[in-house]
Amino acid sequence: MKKILFALLLLIVVIVGYILYNTFTFPSKQITVAPASKISIPADAKEHLAKALTIRTISNENPEDFDSTAFYEFGQFVKNTYPLTDSLLELTNINEFSMIFKWEGSDTSLKPVILMGHLDVVPVATENLEKWYIDPFAGIIKDGVIWGRGAIDDKISVIGNLEAVELLLKEGVKPQRTIYLCYGHDEELGGLNGAVAIVKYLKEKDVEAEFVLDEGFAITQGLIPGTDKDIALIGTAEKGFVTLNLSIAIEGGHSSMPKEETAIDAISKAVARLKDNPFPAEITQPVQDFMSHIGPEMPFTQKMAFANPTIFRPMIISTLEKKPSGNALIRTTTAPTIINGGIKENVIPYEAHASINFRILPGTSIEDVKEHVINTIADDRIEVKEGSFNSEAPKSSSVNSFGYNTIHTTIKQIFPQVVVTPNLVIGATDSRYYYPLSSNVYRFTPFYLNSENISTFHGINERISVNDFENAIRFYAQLIRNSIELNHQ
Ligand SMILES: [Zn+2]
Repeated sequence: MKKILFALLLLIVVIVGYILYNTFTFPSKQITVAPASKISIPADAKEHLAKALTIRTISNENPEDFDSTAFYEFGQFVKNTYPLTDSLLELTNINEFSMIFKWEGSDTSLKPVILMGHLDVVPVATENLEKWYIDPFAGIIKDGVIWGRGAIDDKISVIGNLEAVELLLKEGVKPQRTIYLCYGHDEELGGLNGAVAIVKYLKEKDVEAEFVLDEGFAITQGLIPGTDKDIALIGTAEKGFVTLNLSIAIEGGHSSMPKEETAIDAISKAVARLKDNPFPAEITQPVQDFMSHIGPEMPFTQKMAFANPTIFRPMIISTLEKKPSGNALIRTTTAPTIINGGIKENVIPYEAHASINFRILPGTSIEDVKEHVINTIADDRIEVKEGSFNSEAPKSSSVNSFGYNTIHTTIKQIFPQVVVTPNLVIGATDSRYYYPLSSNVYRFTPFYLNSENISTFHGINERISVNDFENAIRFYAQLIRNSIELNHQ
């Protein structure tokens, strides 16, 4: 008995020792680098962004509402505002309005870097107009804040890039590595005429990029539970998506004599089954990378958990799945978005339909989702059809690449206080189309995202502070310097 107790005690000591050892030796993955000297930004840069926000490059759901003059105007605005970029970079327009700027480097053995952005913005709902403190298309700067639709999604990237390039050109910088600036004009509608066509064009030119940087994440403030540090998230992967349309047709009839099961009953059961049988939780590579990067910078308890992910897996998963945002990181999610059937209150409909939108974890395919759905609903009367607008989840990009390190270093140079970590982007960005050009695709926009402004994405009162915008220009200028002059490969 004593021996057993002793063995048990020894086992506990070993496990606790192992956990503590891992915790205390959990290495920080933060790059230490001296802050960059703060370059001065031309006073009119903020006016340029404000002006860009007045140009209504709106992506409307209805293609007939497309206003080509706004996109022409945007092209003219870029030409007039950035004369050095206009004369020294080579501009190719794709499908008239999307833009590819090529800043040719002297060393063609270096793979180019692609900075992405999009020119279009989502519409402002008329019924919400009165909730805007300031007209979303007036281009007003008030109390150090630039207001308007597109301020953070995504004209900050486009104008931030262009200001940075113009600044470097003014200084006479000549890159060794080629830089491409690629701006689609229909990201908000899926990117088929913009990003897809841009990639096709570059692929035809045999462009193979060292890395690609797009929007998708930012520097979060107070949005990551368990830490009050500012966390810069670099998206190393994003989820895929598919909508599956379920339909059934069975005999209807009069509602006074309902059969045991109607079309609506069957469809409701299928939806309920899918909700009751979610996809299993899974820690994918980007989330694992997130834990190993943020873990060492967290308070003791979280640090201990992230340093011992196998032992604490159940705890990590149950913490994450409590919140929709955490749950989305560890699971292919199931969201019924449309349901219909029936036209008259006393007639049992013959057909019923439901559309279920799935956001897919990297490593799971659309085919896997379909299989899960068919097996879960287990009703072969129900037809399961893929919607037309789907995307497989792309592969995760490495955290040990020149691209990741360059973005990480640049963040530290411009925002020395922040912790940098990779993570999985829940939504979809145009960057998913860029994998044919590079396996190193990252998503980060240099501005602060917090509970104050997170709802302004596609929402009301979208804005960016002048200070944040000027830091974004500093970030892009530094990123380009780091990319073209370090001579890494
Ligand atoms: Zn966007």
